[in-house]
Amino acid sequence: EAVMAALEIDGLDVHYGGVHALRGLTLTVGEGEVVALLGNNGAGKTTTLSAVSGLVRPSAGTVVFMGRDITRARPEAIVRAGLVHVPEGRRVFSTLTVHENLQLGGHLVRDQAELRRRVERVYALLPRLAERRTQQGGTLSGGEQQMLAIGRALVSGPRLLLLDEPSMGLAPLVVASVMDLIRRINAEGVTVLLVEQNAKAALKIAHRGYVIEDGRCALGGPAAELAGDPRVVEAYLGGA
Ligand code: ATP
Repeated sequence: EAVMAALEIDGLDVHYGGVHALRGLTLTVGEGEVVALLGNNGAGKTTTLSAVSGLVRPSAGTVVFMGRDITRARPEAIVRAGLVHVPEGRRVFSTLTVHENLQLGGHLVRDQAELRRRVERVYALLPRLAERRTQQGGTLSGGEQQMLAIGRALVSGPRLLLLDEPSMGLAPLVVASVMDLIRRINAEGVTVLLVEQNAKAALKIAHRGYVIEDGRCALGGPAAELAGDPRVVEAYLGGA
């Protein structure tokens, strides 16, 4: 019995001028899953997330979120529907405090008591941020800034979180704690689509994964199967 699809991407095409970045990309994310999106530089991973969150316009194909066609929806409407994108490069507001950064994640939340509850829930999940609530975002370590970027997304109340390269530039131990955070967020009921260059770390926490090559899904399956697939091992797991 298949779980309900949180996200269904079907036949997606994206062009940037003369660059054909996505070529009929098709994939599904089931409700409650962590799905890893692997692939080399330029394969189309970031473009996939941007097309889903309404930041780039596909020229063909559909994006369906929780049964609703959002292919041409505006980014803000997509966030309101519960689909939140944490872009690459952890863009925290460096002159604002940790607390102010988190509050900004709730700018669409009208109910102030609800906003406070959500921020407190993030602090419970991330005690390091609670200890640093008055510290300026720009003075946090790389790992802490990544946690803050994810925490800010959580304040907006996502049902599906799109994470773009959360491990980028982080030391191995810090990568492990970011992956552990993603696992805990998922355990609380948030579905995750995770773009990662670090295939090994991603496949450890993912239920399923896809490999994108040249704008389409070349391979897909349960994470354990992908991690053992000679093609994946050769190309993405350093041949180990
Ligand atoms: P990376 O891991 O390096 O971020 P990626 O798999 O996320 O790679 P994309 O960023 O989606 O790949 O890029 C897919 C293709 O589209 C690449 O050829 C890239 O050069 C091109 N591309 C991406 N954004 C733009 C843009 N704004 N204008 C023109 N071309 C773009």
